[in-house]
Amino acid sequence: MSTRAYLLLGSNLGDRVARLAQARRDLAATAGRLVAASALYETAAWGVEDQPAFLNQALVIDTELDAPALLAACLATEQQQGRERLVRWAARTLDVDILLFGQEIVATPSLTVPHPALPGRRFALVPLAEVAPQLVHPQLHRTIGQLLADCPDPLAVTRVSH
Ligand code: AMP
Repeated sequence: MSTRAYLLLGSNLGDRVARLAQARRDLAATAGRLVAASALYETAAWGVEDQPAFLNQALVIDTELDAPALLAACLATEQQQGRERLVRWAARTLDVDILLFGQEIVATPSLTVPHPALPGRRFALVPLAEVAPQLVHPQLHRTIGQLLADCPDPLAVTRVSH
């Protein structure tokens, strides 16, 4: 039985658009069927002001994997592009987070799902609300749209593509 998983891609170095596109291809090959992808959204880097802005994108993937195996696929995708990063860049170029994994709640040393930072991060909620506004958070029992409406994060999130 497949599970519908919600991922967040982020990149703030190099050719960010190309990195997100490569991540989508990698994940479609290793993680499951890509059901939907949000637009790309740009957000100023959190805290560190001399870093370039982030591009973020939410993905909806139907996967046969369990949550730990999906995390392994996400980390492999990061490392695939991280190899370039080690040579050319000092900071990370691709981040792949599991926001939600069906209605499952996971709390292990290496994996926490739903992602604990989701309710406080506008750069995650805005793209997720585009693809799944009615999705109910399994612990907070509120929709993604409601969480976004109440999110206190002041950072602007700007849509940059379809
Ligand atoms: P970071 O580099 O700060 O994104 O942290 C990556 C690590 O966070 C991974 O190696 C995971 O073991 C851990 N982690 C815990 N929960 C999650 C999650 N929901 N999605 C992605 N990584 C997670």
